Amino acid sequence: MATDGRPSGGDVPPKLRLFCPACGHENPLDGDWLVRERAAGVAYECPECETEIADRTAIPT
Ligand SMILES: [Zn+2]
Repeated sequence: MATDGRPSGGDVPPKLRLFCPACGHENPLDGDWLVRERAAGVAYECPECETEIADRTAIPT
């Protein structure tokens, strides 16, 4: 019996999506959001209404 320690394909985690609470604009995290670099991390701004979306994915180093 062969041993297969590798994970099978098709196990890709779903892409993170951001949702603008102000206008309802929705896009993947790497979509059309305007990326603002801040001291505390990266912030995402809605391209339609310029509302800044809270970013919970920033990892403090
Ligand atoms: Zn918006």
